[in-house]
Amino acid sequence: MRMTADVVVIGGGVIGTATAFYLANAGRRVTLVERRGLAQEASGANVGLVTVFTIFELAPGPFFGLSRFSADSYLSLREQTGLDIEYQRCGGLVVAETEKELEVARRAYEGYAAHDVPVEWLDPKGVRACEPALVSDRILGGVFCPLQGFVNPMLATQALGLGARRHGATLLFGTSVHGIACDQGRVQMVQTSAGDIACEFVVNAAGAWSPEIGAMAGVKIPVFPARGQILLTEPVPRFMRSVVLGTEISATQTRRGNVLIGSTAESVGFDKRVTVETISHFARTILQYYPRLRNLQVIRTWAGLRPFTSDNYPIIQLMEEPKGFCLATGHGKRGMIQGPATGQLMAELITGKQPYMPLDPFSLRRFAGQRPDGVTTS
Ligand SMILES: Cc1cc2nc3c(=O)[nH]c(=O)nc-3n(C[C@H](O)[C@H](O)[C@H](O)COP(=O)(O)OP(=O)(O)OC[C@H]3O[C@@H](n4cnc5c(N)ncnc54)[C@H](O)[C@@H]3O)c2cc1C
Repeated sequence: MRMTADVVVIGGGVIGTATAFYLANAGRRVTLVERRGLAQEASGANVGLVTVFTIFELAPGPFFGLSRFSADSYLSLREQTGLDIEYQRCGGLVVAETEKELEVARRAYEGYAAHDVPVEWLDPKGVRACEPALVSDRILGGVFCPLQGFVNPMLATQALGLGARRHGATLLFGTSVHGIACDQGRVQMVQTSAGDIACEFVVNAAGAWSPEIGAMAGVKIPVFPARGQILLTEPVPRFMRSVVLGTEISATQTRRGNVLIGSTAESVGFDKRVTVETISHFARTILQYYPRLRNLQVIRTWAGLRPFTSDNYPIIQLMEEPKGFCLATGHGKRGMIQGPATGQLMAELITGKQPYMPLDPFSLRRFAGQRPDGVTTS
């Protein structure tokens, strides 16, 4: 039997489910196709940090436009779906350990403060008062932002998928996409292991695998996998007040009390193995900051593949050729915090509405003349 949809979304990670959620909410007939299940790749393998303030942008820029929208969406997702995604807006610290890092943090603080983003500059004493469990003489200062927080990434992705289904979307699991048929410069149909789906639009939200899907429609997508490894401890009574980010550390304590420590960004292709070298490095490093973790039991380690672009911004675009082919990929280190905003923007593009923010920074065009890894070829 041939299936039909207005939009086929490929990928059941946070980007695909958010896209399905906002599109179904806007009244479109959506079918989401996922070869495994919801949140089985990067979207279920991450730390779930919801970082609105980051030194990646020294003042609110395109990333802030995405992250602010997403953080607010996570606040209302429970009401909209009935599922508790364990979103905690606990605030977060970005700490500096060298003079250079301090200068960058200071510039970012001034840039965000000038745009009325709530940020606070902290000296080493202020950092200690803010996060008493963090022990380090090396910390020279930092920035506290009360908008930082975290979600349970699996629950957030499931909530978006469930919300999409409640609005009428069809979710096909265990179903692989193996072809995209185009005619006269337009997408016509997605070929899957469960049969063909005729459609007007196809959204490529296949994360690190989005180049494979792009090739099916004749579109080169400069996204590459970067492995991230994570270590999880047993739950303990809450001792971390906020999310802490530094060059050497990224640590957070989940609502259940487990400590999540990570993470790397390694260029090892599609290799998802966890390595002794990295995990022992995490363990040694984290003890320098949180000696109280010394006797905690490590209960799990894992790795996931982030879909990276060379400039760390995603690709969010409706293609001219083939018409109806849409890109929602390349969210790199920050897909959880960019997911709901990307879904909203895809829905606006597909329903012909004015996007709520400018999309030029996310266009595929910016990579013209570059290899997928960002090296310029002309
Ligand atoms: C260790 C680690 C820590 C991270 N920490 C954070 C963090 O704290 N905060 C944050 O914001 N982000 C974080 N990230 C990044 C975030 O996880 C990713 O950016 C995000 O999950 C990408 O979502 P996605 O939906 O694009 O990709 P994915 O979640 O990988 O989903 C893509 C889906 O496409 C499916 N697919 C692929 N090919 C096909 C096909 N042919 N047919 C059907 N389905 C297909 C796959 O099965 C997969 O489920 C982290 C990532 C890692 C690995």
